[in-house]
Amino acid sequence: MTKATLTNDQQFARLCENGFGFVSTAIEQLWQNGSPDALKYSVINFYSGIELLLKARLMHEHWTLIVADSNKADVEEFLNGEAQTVGFMQAVQRLKKVARVTVPQNAVSSFDELRKHRNRMVHFYHPIDVNEPDQSKQREAVILEQCRGWFYLRRLLGDEWNDIFEAFQNQVQDINLAMKRHHEYLRAVYQQIQPELELERQKGAFLAACSACGFDAQVLVTVGPQEQKCRVCLAEESFLVHVCPDPDCGKSTTLPVEECDAWVCEHCQTSIELDEVLVAYTLEGKADHDDYNPVGLCTECHHTPETAGTLDDGERCFCFNCFCWPERIEFCEWCNEPFTGEANGTFWSGCERCDGQAGWTRDD
Ligand SMILES: [Zn+2]
Ligand SMILES: [Zn+2]
Ligand SMILES: [Zn+2]
Ligand SMILES: [Zn+2]
Repeated sequence: MTKATLTNDQQFARLCENGFGFVSTAIEQLWQNGSPDALKYSVINFYSGIELLLKARLMHEHWTLIVADSNKADVEEFLNGEAQTVGFMQAVQRLKKVARVTVPQNAVSSFDELRKHRNRMVHFYHPIDVNEPDQSKQREAVILEQCRGWFYLRRLLGDEWNDIFEAFQNQVQDINLAMKRHHEYLRAVYQQIQPELELERQKGAFLAACSACGFDAQVLVTVGPQEQKCRVCLAEESFLVHVCPDPDCGKSTTLPVEECDAWVCEHCQTSIELDEVLVAYTLEGKADHDDYNPVGLCTECHHTPETAGTLDDGERCFCFNCFCWPERIEFCEWCNEPFTGEANGTFWSGCERCDGQAGWTRDD
């Protein structure tokens, strides 16, 4: 009897079904009190589910992309499930490089945290004793980790990749429902830390909603770009706070991510220009600074006009559109234009704006 092989579409559907299955099982296991291993398997299965769903997204571009060594990709082996497939980081890199699909940095860190935790559970003897008081602490950590992980994954599957995962939106909804107990737990944490938050507010902090858990638990104390950690779910998120330019208002307002063309003050609706914000927090055009520090092209979001600048401390870089924190801004060796990334080699290869000498030679 020959083994039936699955088509590409069936293979994609199977990866998705397995992925959602692992995530659901993990959530159930987390609330099982009986077995000492339940928590351990919850960590392992949750991560496996996340990884499978990311691979499914990659596979949707082309099946060879999820085979670890694409050069050796063999369709029969793949369809029979015998091919060695990529790991999580490789999947993220291939999505970016080949499909130009960027998984946001916060999501990558959250998935990577789940991956590391899973590895600790798998590779080391890591018993969890239900009778130990420590177990509830461990469970708390896992709840927070899973809330953050699911939040980022849900945003990808349900919004950005909605068309690709269209047939699986019911599963997304089911998992949202299954996460209810996780959320009840977060609500209890939020209520518990109310006095602490209120104290911060009285000291002048601004409380913003956390995009991972939804509670107003991100404490913003200064103006300008900043990274904060949610007091409830511990998700890290970048914010941009600016003082409204209208003198009659003059209040601090948070400027939303990916909307730098349409910023307005949340209190009085005065529009806030990108240029004004760049001047306020970056070195560009600051007379007391000798180096040339123009705003560069962000290679994460590709927004034009350029949105990535070196902050006033002269060290950190920030993209005022997508709120990423690039390592550095360098100048293309061929066209001299600034961009976020490594200029080494661009004389030949060019940057996102030019084809370098290679392109020049080819045109001749
Ligand atoms: Zn949160
Ligand atoms: Zn205002
Ligand atoms: Zn950007
Ligand atoms: Zn260039």
